[in-house]
Amino acid sequence: MTATPSRLRSELLAREKGKSPLFFFDFDGTLTEIERTPDGVKFKPIARFIVEELSRHFSVGIITGRALPDIKKLIGIKGIYYSGNHGVEIEGPRLRFVEKNSAKSVAYLNTLIPKLKRKLKPYGPIIQHKKYSIAVHYRTVEARLVRQLLDDLDLITSEPVRSGKVRLQLGKKVVEIKAPVEWDKGKAIERILMKTGRTGKVFFFGDDMTDEFGFEMVNSLKGVSVYVGGLERETHARYYLESPTALIGELAKFLFELE
Ligand SMILES: [Mg+2]
Repeated sequence: MTATPSRLRSELLAREKGKSPLFFFDFDGTLTEIERTPDGVKFKPIARFIVEELSRHFSVGIITGRALPDIKKLIGIKGIYYSGNHGVEIEGPRLRFVEKNSAKSVAYLNTLIPKLKRKLKPYGPIIQHKKYSIAVHYRTVEARLVRQLLDDLDLITSEPVRSGKVRLQLGKKVVEIKAPVEWDKGKAIERILMKTGRTGKVFFFGDDMTDEFGFEMVNSLKGVSVYVGGLERETHARYYLESPTALIGELAKFLFELE
């Protein structure tokens, strides 16, 4: 990860003749700052305006860990692609998709919800039931209780993980319980590109571990992968922007220069 924002600008502005770039974004931590609880997050009107403007010129997709109805409501822009549950569900122009093994896991995940609530609630996490996955957010948990919470979570999930009923995925102060399938944000991007008849450069902006699949996918397509936020770890992204605000600023400048 050595690239700079100025080099990203040149990627944005290097228009390929007759080809239209495509833009994919994660949401939390990428298009908006992370808040203490997922429900505390809003999509700023200026950011919505910029992304909506972008979607008037180019194909746009939002690829998030949130559930599909949640992200559609938060973003509120028509005519773009939305993918929820880290790529498992996708909706957009001429496309409606649910990864089939994840669909089969819904009933089993439902059985875990009461156990998780009973055992973990005393620690004060936020347990989000997202149909195709369950997220246990522990940003709200006192630091001294986090270890215990994770141990209890392990007690509940170790058998189903061992027997292949579910798998765990880690993110920023969140553990997600999901179907045991190899499906990710990169595959969702690929699926959407098949529908759009892509010709131009593909951009993907993200911040968290699950976005690495998206970075790898666009790298393999000779696209532009951009890490947003503080540099906390190694990444496959080739470019870097310091914050969601910086991202919105870059997009605004890009749109201005389009006119
Ligand atoms: Mg994120």
